[in-house]
Amino acid sequence: MQQDRRNFLKRTAMAAGVVAAAGGAAPRTARASGADAADAVDAAACLVDTTLCIGCRKCEEACNEANRLPRPDQPFDDRWVFRDRRRPGADSLTVVNAYGGHPSNDQPDRSRTFVKVQCMHCLDPACVSACIVGALTKSPQGPVHYDADKCIGCRYCMVACPFEIPAYEYDEAVLPKVRKCSFCMDDLDARPEPACAAACPVEAIVFGKRGEILELARERIHERPDRYVDHVYGEHEVGGTSWLYLTGRPPEEIDLLPLPEKSPPRLTESIQHGIFRYGALPILAFSGLGALMWWTNRRQGVEEKGAVRENGEIEEQTGVSDGEVN
Ligand code: SF4
Ligand code: SF4
Ligand code: SF4
Repeated sequence: MQQDRRNFLKRTAMAAGVVAAAGGAAPRTARASGADAADAVDAAACLVDTTLCIGCRKCEEACNEANRLPRPDQPFDDRWVFRDRRRPGADSLTVVNAYGGHPSNDQPDRSRTFVKVQCMHCLDPACVSACIVGALTKSPQGPVHYDADKCIGCRYCMVACPFEIPAYEYDEAVLPKVRKCSFCMDDLDARPEPACAAACPVEAIVFGKRGEILELARERIHERPDRYVDHVYGEHEVGGTSWLYLTGRPPEEIDLLPLPEKSPPRLTESIQHGIFRYGALPILAFSGLGALMWWTNRRQGVEEKGAVRENGEIEEQTGVSDGEVN
């Protein structure tokens, strides 16, 4: 029999441990040391069971509220959004897409497959490797963290991500940020599980330790081979991810694309080694350019902030004090 999510969490008593690990005092700045999934058994993870999801979009709504994002024009109970394939954006850190069934069906139904999309919190993240100023870091506890204060806006992370997840606040005039799912990292001290997982009425999202989440996934496949494809998406793709998926149809049919098992940073490692050996000068120039972009970005932000202040309007938009740019 399939296990109930909350009983599962209770039985393993892992939620508290994961929360403490993900949000506690442990350092959050460690970079991924390599795509060794065996080392990630205790890292925070989520299992999305697409065979259970009814497309209610409660997870989207909970994410919107937890991250204090602007309410979308279309309400969260509007199922017409399923006519389009959506991607996470600066105002929507997770979205649910529908596959199969009739687009005009505006009722929850099980004839369609619904797939929640967000940052996969890769074990060896390409975005972290691509970021030249360390604004993205992989926590050994699972989440991939973004530090807006370090970001220079180069958007290399957006190019590098194999899942095309990071979004940019193009509409933000003052210090635009990269946006992506944080794994509710900043709130995990206060909440027992990510907001989206807590909001799901059919327990299609299970939060826990990666090792135990994988065990649960394999157990479900073993118990219901008629229901599930024998593949846990994210177990090995790009070196493994912290968000894992169970599907009832081939993953590629629902935009869970076939990706190599080696993570992008490991794939490019040999090239990088060559560059470092033979191209020290270009690297130095590249770093100098990065530093210049960082300084220009901060300077511009403060100048714009000053202009805003002169107009007597918002003051707290940037979080940068004048003293920081000297
Ligand atoms: S899914 Fe993309 S943004 Fe998220 S951790 Fe992986 S590489 Fe980074
Ligand atoms: S983990 Fe938090 S930030 Fe990420 S999709 Fe869920 S609610 Fe949104
Ligand atoms: S809340 Fe659960 S059932 Fe509803 S759309 Fe999200 S994952 Fe699917």
